[in-house]
Amino acid sequence: MSIIGATAGELLQRLERGDVSSVEATTAYLDAIALNDGRVKAFLHVDWDHAIAQARAIDEKRQRGESLGILGGLPVAVKDVVCTQGQPTTCASKMLKGFVPPYDAHVVTRLKTSDAVLIGKTNMDEFAMGSSTENSAYQVTRNPWDLERTPGGSSGGSAAAVAASMAPLALGTDTGGSIRLPAGYCGVVGMKPTYGRVSRFGLVAYGSSLDQIGPFANDVAGAALLLEALAGYDRRDSTSVDTPVPQYSRTVEEPLAGVRIGIAKEHFVSGLDREVESSVRAGLDVYKSLGAEIKEISLPHSKYAVAVYYIVAPSEASSNLARYDGVHYGHRAAQFDNMIDMYSASRGEGFGAEVKRRIMLGTYALSAGYYDAYYLKALKVRRLIRNDFDEAFKSVDVIASPVAPTPAFKIGELMDDPLAMYLSDIYTISANLAGLPGICLPAGFSRNNLPIGLQLLGPPFEEERLLRTARMFECETDFHKRRPTVE
Ligand code: GLN
Repeated sequence: MSIIGATAGELLQRLERGDVSSVEATTAYLDAIALNDGRVKAFLHVDWDHAIAQARAIDEKRQRGESLGILGGLPVAVKDVVCTQGQPTTCASKMLKGFVPPYDAHVVTRLKTSDAVLIGKTNMDEFAMGSSTENSAYQVTRNPWDLERTPGGSSGGSAAAVAASMAPLALGTDTGGSIRLPAGYCGVVGMKPTYGRVSRFGLVAYGSSLDQIGPFANDVAGAALLLEALAGYDRRDSTSVDTPVPQYSRTVEEPLAGVRIGIAKEHFVSGLDREVESSVRAGLDVYKSLGAEIKEISLPHSKYAVAVYYIVAPSEASSNLARYDGVHYGHRAAQFDNMIDMYSASRGEGFGAEVKRRIMLGTYALSAGYYDAYYLKALKVRRLIRNDFDEAFKSVDVIASPVAPTPAFKIGELMDDPLAMYLSDIYTISANLAGLPGICLPAGFSRNNLPIGLQLLGPPFEEERLLRTARMFECETDFHKRRPTVE
């Protein structure tokens, strides 16, 4: 079997057996990037020499008989919102053009101690704001299944890189669906862990009460392996939770007997594409055939999730992005008359249109006259959304739903209609508001050969349950085995 297209687990076995070296694996992926990324445009930065040097060091460690970390020489792509020491981290913004962090994010340290090779930094919506990766200041990433279509966003570069076999594993971030949505559109596995499961230290903040880093992989076992490497307590993130990390890569293979799967009646309503609905329902049939129990549940406040999210996330963003003042970080305007003018010129030039829209929305929602009516009200409804889930999880183990109302839309299709773009997040953002883990896995294809994702949500810190449930589906289906031909 060739290196390209192997699952992370298969490749790791070959690395461990010595059939393949990390230099060979890394070179194969770098070649795939050189061949395909001109069309897909998933990467913002690839440092060939640096990647090979890391791979060589890992091979030497293995030859010396030293024990290796659990990623044992596998290449991993990293979303460009995660700080990498000595390597550019731009958040796909002009504001951070040329910014080279002096330190690694916690997850990058984890990748390094797990003996991963950092193969490159991936494209995204600017500061992770968007659902299509069209808001990047640098390039538009294309969906490897259909280059006219979006890979989803905001982690579109990471999802497209895995889908197009330019990396076996990648990191994304999910503030309001940004791992799960692109995973669904690109036909790969993507997981948002519980809020607090993975340290946010060194992640450039968007919505700090929502942001989580998580894995992309070309199968569920790969996501389990990468999550195991990332998860765990870090004292540098005050919201990181000190609770034991299961060995996801081992337990993922254990099926769950009699798992109770909830489906929310609010999730199957008008606006849901027929092919998406039938794939999700066919997915539920697969589970039934495995002995799962399917139960109808209700999430009555989920209809407010988009509205609540688009108050909370921009409010937090407007505060987080205040640091880009042209002094502490990033771009500074060349021409200005006085200090205030320098701030506004630097910010006016450095931020793109969507980021400015979010800052204005957030500043408005937090302003003295409107705080109670918007921000405070949104926080109260956020609590009700969480309560709905707590209630539902009294009678079911996981909740299944579509990941998005339609398969990948065309590039440019929603750019003039921000509200329609925001609605593509309708199935994903409740999990962020409630802090819950969620996984998206390939569950079908539309007639025109676009992937369709299935989302599973679980109670806090039940990633293991989600991975095991997802893996059961994968063992019965072959959607995850199909790969696009990028042309
Ligand atoms: N589409 C959402 C937004 O624009 C999701 C972003 C994310 O998860 N990073 O805010």
